Amino acid sequence: MYYLGVDLGGTNVAAGIVDETGKFLIKESIPTRGNRKQEEIVKDIAALCKKLISASGVKPGYIGIGSPGTCDTVNGVVVYANNLNFKNVPIRQMMNRYIDLPIYLGNDANCAAIGESMVGVGRGYSSSLFITLGTGVGGGIILNNQLVTGSFFNGGELGHTVIKFDGEKCSCGRYGCLEAYASATALIRETKIAAVKNQNSLINELSNNDITSITAKTAFDAMKKNDITATNVVNEYIKHLAIGLVNFVNIFEPEIIIIGGGVSAQGNFLIEPLKKLVSQESYGESLKTKIEIALLGNDAGIIGAAFLNK
Ligand SMILES: [Zn+2]
Repeated sequence: MYYLGVDLGGTNVAAGIVDETGKFLIKESIPTRGNRKQEEIVKDIAALCKKLISASGVKPGYIGIGSPGTCDTVNGVVVYANNLNFKNVPIRQMMNRYIDLPIYLGNDANCAAIGESMVGVGRGYSSSLFITLGTGVGGGIILNNQLVTGSFFNGGELGHTVIKFDGEKCSCGRYGCLEAYASATALIRETKIAAVKNQNSLINELSNNDITSITAKTAFDAMKKNDITATNVVNEYIKHLAIGLVNFVNIFEPEIIIIGGGVSAQGNFLIEPLKKLVSQESYGESLKTKIEIALLGNDAGIIGAAFLNK
């Protein structure tokens, strides 16, 4: 059996056909151009799927779509996705106007969680949490090989658990969410603040004295060159992330927590201090939950979407 997965993002639509083991037969991506009407976006997705099917010469059993936002996975409706301007978009029904295959829908972070759990670093574990540290903080919860999405499709939003009362404003409107501290966006914000306050910091040199060119990498780069300001920024970032992870360990105690998204590219510079902090703070005598970097990168979302109904 083959499966077609679509990762619908704000910038690109990436799709691919995979086999039973998650290996790609074919993969392609197109720009989303998310400022267009939803009908046009869905039409493009359908055209991309058709192209992949004819180019690969195999007929997938179904199409799985990972979308940002709240997804009614039962009815195949994107209830709300702010970065696509989607509100109650019946994507299953719309796709079926073009393609006669079953269509399954899931939240994009949940799809990435499925991908990592089935063929990535979470393979072999029945309980895993997946966290993406990107523009926002996405989450996916898999317990006993079952994706947990809540009773009304809004569950599993690990990024929108509060770690600081009256803290920084979050994209969701609340204050102090993990996302407001542990996203790449938050890291960039804190790096900029530190750079302005500490003119001698290497952060300024690395960004050519232009704070608008600071990225989620800048503080880590300066820290690796022993810059004190940058080291403080990174330490604070990891401390906040650790608070979130400790909460998740105390609630779920998964076998593994998988860290993905842009910031995860820092590898051991992120993971080692994180493990230490989570281990110190978790309930119980010793931390048994593993904390690892995701393996599949952007492919996790496509593979997870493809495996939505596997
Ligand atoms: Zn929030």
